[in-house]
Amino acid sequence: MDYRKVFCEAVNAILPPACPICGKPKPFCGKKRLDICPGCREKIGYIKEPVCLKCGKSIQDDDDEFCRDCGRGLHVYDQAAAVYEYSRAVKNSIYRFKYYNKREYASSYAAEMVRSCGGMINVWSPDVIMPVPIHSSRLKERGYNQAGLIAAELGRLMGIPVDETSLKRVVRTTPMKELNNLQRIKNLQNAFQVDRKDVIYKKVLIVDDIYTTGATFDACAAVLKESGTQEVYGVSLCVGDGF
Ligand SMILES: [Zn+2]
Ligand SMILES: [Zn+2]
Repeated sequence: MDYRKVFCEAVNAILPPACPICGKPKPFCGKKRLDICPGCREKIGYIKEPVCLKCGKSIQDDDDEFCRDCGRGLHVYDQAAAVYEYSRAVKNSIYRFKYYNKREYASSYAAEMVRSCGGMINVWSPDVIMPVPIHSSRLKERGYNQAGLIAAELGRLMGIPVDETSLKRVVRTTPMKELNNLQRIKNLQNAFQVDRKDVIYKKVLIVDDIYTTGATFDACAAVLKESGTQEVYGVSLCVGDGF
């Protein structure tokens, strides 16, 4: 038995739901608890227009269509969007979510995704949402896939089916934060596989916690498109390169 996990779950059951940014109990607005406290909302940086038309990162110049990365090369995925800029507060929050069993954050994160990217997701109108998968051995260690928790909540809030099994990570890859751009692409070669051949989704929305170079979305999009999917979109919580 994983005692740390059991202990965390017991504590989480007793304590009121916490703001994913500061960890304090979520304040009420009328009878409803807010997803994030107003103070934290002001502190964390939301991605604001103008944004790159491909990856959704903020860009400086209103006249530019693409960021420097997307202007240089083509992505395999069709379009992506994200909620937050990289900041220490967001980084720490995702770290706790991922490694300290703060699974409860998923509902706040997904609600934030709906607020920031819901309009875009409606335009994309995906048939299905898929989380970026983690390798089965890592799933065993961690007990959950952080992207899977966000995807499940996002699907519930937006009324879009979630498929957590068709896209698989078949190679246990090196954590991306330890690699440079080229290494990231190489690291992901042959890492993913589409397991299910009986259903072909036309449009898939991939969900991840962090977008860095887009290599992960591209690798997922490549295998999905090979299996017959026509359009692949991506939504992530945060865009940054300091992870
Ligand atoms: Zn807070
Ligand atoms: Zn871009």
